[in-house]
Amino acid sequence: MVLQRENPLFQAQQTWPLHQFGSDRHDFIKRPPYQRKTVWERKKQKSLMESFICGLYVPPVVLRSITHETIQKYEVIDGQQRITAIQDYLNDEYSLPNSQQIREIDNRQDRGFAGNSFAELSDDDQAAIEQDCNLTVDILQGISNPTSTEHQQLATQVFWRLQQGESLNTLEENHSKITSPVRNYIVERADDISFDYDEYKSLDHNDDRHPFFSLVNYGNNRLKHLGLLARFLLIEIADGPAYVTGTRVTRLFDCEKGTLNPNEDQTAFRSRREVQRTDEMLDTLHDIFKDTEMMTDDDQVVYFDNEYYIITLYTLIRELQFGNYRFNSGNFREIREFARDFYRRMQNEPVGDDAILRFKSKSQQSADPVAARHWIMMNELWKTEPDIVELDSQRLFTHAQRVAIFLRDDRVCQQCLEEELEALDPDEDESKAKNRARVAWSNWDADHIVMHAEGGDTTIENGQVRCPEHNRSDNVIRSELTD
Ligand SMILES: [Zn+2]
Repeated sequence: MVLQRENPLFQAQQTWPLHQFGSDRHDFIKRPPYQRKTVWERKKQKSLMESFICGLYVPPVVLRSITHETIQKYEVIDGQQRITAIQDYLNDEYSLPNSQQIREIDNRQDRGFAGNSFAELSDDDQAAIEQDCNLTVDILQGISNPTSTEHQQLATQVFWRLQQGESLNTLEENHSKITSPVRNYIVERADDISFDYDEYKSLDHNDDRHPFFSLVNYGNNRLKHLGLLARFLLIEIADGPAYVTGTRVTRLFDCEKGTLNPNEDQTAFRSRREVQRTDEMLDTLHDIFKDTEMMTDDDQVVYFDNEYYIITLYTLIRELQFGNYRFNSGNFREIREFARDFYRRMQNEPVGDDAILRFKSKSQQSADPVAARHWIMMNELWKTEPDIVELDSQRLFTHAQRVAIFLRDDRVCQQCLEEELEALDPDEDESKAKNRARVAWSNWDADHIVMHAEGGDTTIENGQVRCPEHNRSDNVIRSELTD
């Protein structure tokens, strides 16, 4: 029985003389949306041209023939760097290497290749390069419609399979998932290059990039910016500190989080509450930190140089922004100065600075360290007595005390913990009991260990974390006692 293949891909192999690769000959899309941007060093470009002249093997390039508004173009699925190297040489941007191998050819055939740029060659030598040197091209046909999702996906699949040997890193893989609404949102907001689908060409700038990312001090590592925004979005989806590991980022790009749907259209996706809040937070972060006095020469915030610190600033500021606080631009300066001072403490040898030592020991990206860092930083912020008002002031304990108690008790209801420890299987770890006794910031009470009515002080030492159930049952017993 003959194998029935359903892919509409046809492959035509052709041999093209190098002049066919000239940018004046065909319209090449060298960086389609699923491609990353990589740049060969000159040395590698020269070595490729040397291979052509010496007749050494050069692997074929893979092109996708597309028709965009009746114009035929070639999308480069594989061979971006080889085609660029040929074009750069023909455009006179570098010279051939002055190598032993090329000099031998010059001597034997009375030519003058070695060490020369294209313009420096004789007409005969130019013709030899343009017409006698060849490169094999594999042309994919049958997926020529640039607006067809199915065609795009097939092209991406071919790209992906070709890259297996080179092993894309996880973020590069995520970057090429061009049909995911999450990917498209993240690339639009955080990438420094873009793709114009209307004109069907790649652009070296991205007008939709959020200005916050120009403040991030990661050098030129744009894929890290995508990862950072993905982590912000994970935090918004969880509505607070959450798992932000690489695995979770990949699942996010695959729309395998919460109610995300890989087929959701962009407008619906962007009107989601978590996406709108992420956007709102990017604005706030930009507004707060654009005015710091600690800028690099490239106008990046000096202290935005490591991810776990930025993520904790994010969880802290989003809590102030969306939680029950009076927080507005009047508070930006003190937040900015707090962030700067906190970073300076991290940079100094923090001997004896327990908060910073603990913070630095919790640099992992799983949920527990992310939450622990959040509360350590929140506690340090409240120690500075910021001019931020918690709007619910019905409580006996001050906000600063509550933060300190919550941090000290590690977000665990002390009575739940007691009960969970008693009920724990002998072969289970105590951390299991702790996890089960965890409470959310929005769902606990600061309880007096020695009751207020019995003269117990309203201090951090006399306070403990209680879940609402335990606090309520406690109050019932107390009122029975006082009756
Ligand atoms: Zn409890």
